[in-house]
Amino acid sequence: TPTITIIGAGLAGSEAAWQLARRGIRVRLHEMRPTTMTPAHKTGNCAELVCSNTFRADHLENAVGLLHEEMRRMDSLIMRCGDEARIPAGTALAVDREQFSALVTAALTAEPLIEIVPGEVTDIPPEGLVLIASGPLTSDTLYDRIQNLTGEDRLCFFDAIAPVVDAESVNMKIAYWKNRYDKNVAEGEAGDYLNCPMNEAQYKAFVAELVSAEKVAFKGFEDIPFFEGCMPIEEMAERGEDTPRFGPMKPVGLDHPVSGEKAYAVVQLRRDNRMGSLLNMVGFQTKMTYGEQKRVFTMIPGLEQAEFFRLGSLHRNTFIKSPALLDNTLRLKKEPRILFAGQITGVEGYVESASMGLMAGRFLAAMAHGEEPEAPPADTAHGALLAHISQTRVEDFQPMNINFGLLPPGKKRDGKRRFSRAERRRSVSDKALAVLDVWLKKS
Ligand code: FAD
Repeated sequence: TPTITIIGAGLAGSEAAWQLARRGIRVRLHEMRPTTMTPAHKTGNCAELVCSNTFRADHLENAVGLLHEEMRRMDSLIMRCGDEARIPAGTALAVDREQFSALVTAALTAEPLIEIVPGEVTDIPPEGLVLIASGPLTSDTLYDRIQNLTGEDRLCFFDAIAPVVDAESVNMKIAYWKNRYDKNVAEGEAGDYLNCPMNEAQYKAFVAELVSAEKVAFKGFEDIPFFEGCMPIEEMAERGEDTPRFGPMKPVGLDHPVSGEKAYAVVQLRRDNRMGSLLNMVGFQTKMTYGEQKRVFTMIPGLEQAEFFRLGSLHRNTFIKSPALLDNTLRLKKEPRILFAGQITGVEGYVESASMGLMAGRFLAAMAHGEEPEAPPADTAHGALLAHISQTRVEDFQPMNINFGLLPPGKKRDGKRRFSRAERRRSVSDKALAVLDVWLKKS
């Protein structure tokens, strides 16, 4: 079988290399650190965790917990080392970060089929099977090469993401569907935006908290362009108490459809997926810490009990327009010998990046054996992520953590009894694992 080139020994590249070596395939794994560093990494270790030390929830009522379990069933190196380096953190999987990346590095170094090649890759190898897993902080030269290859004019920017709310957790006694001035609404339809109205006192209290809330320190990527229209909401509030009210919180044309009441300000949520299970808070990109976002955003009328599938953040990111460029087995459509994995494909998070590395490893192994790679069904967490990457509308495509909104909805009731949300989520996970087991047996 041919030797496979992997660029980047981060979360995705390390996992992919492991999967390939386990299948008897030789790998050349290129890593530029420690000679060339990124603005966030600090060591030369494989799979360094650049920020928090958590893989998030580790139980089956949470979608990332499901992803963990699927990865364990596919002999994931990242999960094996994560479990070994585990430190107490309630129901979350937190790890000792140094021990974790030392374990990954040791496992890859000990593997005779993997050669770790130090140094920056400045060009994409002209032939052979290649996996690009160079992450959100891909080096500049390689970034240019990827740009030439994919034809994208801009892959890299300050990524400002707004929170995404679980549609079922919004209080519909307060929130209402309506488009501004009822524009583009078909007869009998409710509108595309869900509006959370505020009175003057609620607005003033909210803006005061936006200003005083704790923010994440900036990571020093000042040289990267800042896209128009992605100013954090709290920065807007700092410019003046009324600034958000003349920006994303503008209430005009949004009077209550039944009572006709005029709001002083409005927070708008827009469907983030076709199913409507995810709602994006329009214009609410933020640098507030996760804890503060939950505290301040649940002050919004209608969102008191909101569950967040994703919280807002602002950091440099590099990702390709995967839905236009990749098939559902991570192959570049126009040059299928080249695959992408990790954050650069438009998934978000350590675990998600590693899971796409795992998939790429399996797909490349099939290709090395002259077989056609096959994606797992979309009702598994891995299949759902691959579908997100390859099938989302290109204009809507944003990096996304795994979440239940990407999976088909669970059973709602058993006979007469309505399932609780936890039971429904559990049923989605149980089904995913059963489907995965069948898929693993035949692949
Ligand atoms: P990486 O883990 O970054 O791996 C890519 C590797 O490629 C790196 O080792 C890099 O050195 C190497 N490389 C790059 N260019 C070249 C080249 N030309 N030649 C050779 N090697 C190269 N996710 C979370 O779940 N929790 C967090 O707290 C979190 N914090 C983040 C903070 C920041 C500042 C950023 C940028 C991202 C954060 N993420 C976080 C998102 C993401 O999950 C991580 O970045 C994750 O490491 C991505 O995995 P990856 O394998 O795609 O990339």
